[in-house]
Amino acid sequence: MNSALKKVVAENGLGGLEFLCSIPGSLGGMLRSNAGCFGSDLSTVLKKATVINGKGDIFEADCKDFNFGYRHSDFPADWIVLEVCLQFEKKDAQEVRKQIQANDEYRQTHQPQGIRTAGSTFKNPEGYRAWELIKNSGGADMVVGGARMSAQHCNFLQADNTATAADIEKLGRNIIAAVKEKTGVDLEWEIKIIGQE
Ligand SMILES: Cc1cc2nc3c(=O)[nH]c(=O)nc-3n(C[C@H](O)[C@H](O)[C@H](O)COP(=O)(O)OP(=O)(O)OC[C@H]3O[C@@H](n4cnc5c(N)ncnc54)[C@H](O)[C@@H]3O)c2cc1C
Repeated sequence: MNSALKKVVAENGLGGLEFLCSIPGSLGGMLRSNAGCFGSDLSTVLKKATVINGKGDIFEADCKDFNFGYRHSDFPADWIVLEVCLQFEKKDAQEVRKQIQANDEYRQTHQPQGIRTAGSTFKNPEGYRAWELIKNSGGADMVVGGARMSAQHCNFLQADNTATAADIEKLGRNIIAAVKEKTGVDLEWEIKIIGQE
């Protein structure tokens, strides 16, 4: 849950932004990955972004150039988001608060809590749900060192305190291969891998 955002959205009755409050992270990170849930993503509510580029120039960027897609943007690698301007519909604060609570409750009952995870591990391929593909291909039961998929939601990769980055990547690669073999579908990482094994 995103406590800072939740406070602003709930207290000011900023309808339409409730979904963002349950995504952990900053608005800059959300813009780069076009983060989303509950049928919306950042691009659906983004009006403007103020950025600084690699040369230190600060300006208002044209958001059309970001080419947003599912958990994707072409936001340039050497730009940093300084500010975003989001579109909302003014609503009763109590109503907005209730929607935020309902979203939080959904996550608490459907997604693992209190584990070491980066959230959804693979993108949902068009027409499929990643967790179903993983379950039906035996990926839900795979373990590599300290890495496994959550028993509660098998698209959440769970790392115990012995897991190495190599365990996590290997488990992911094994799952991608199992899903491809069983269903012919290519799973794509949703989490971003930094560095090399
Ligand atoms: C339990 C859990 C649940 C999650 N649920 C969701 C979900 O429902 N939907 C979803 O989309 N994601 C989800 N995530 C993933 C994550 O919360 C989002 O991707 C979030 O947007 C990451 O934001 P961050 O600020 O932590 O970015 P980071 O992880 O720190 O960075 C992500 C990328 O954004 C870049 N970045 C960060 N800040 C800026 C900035 N100011 N300007 C430019 N680039 C920047 C970084 O360089 C990096 O490339 C979940 C993660 C967890 C752990």
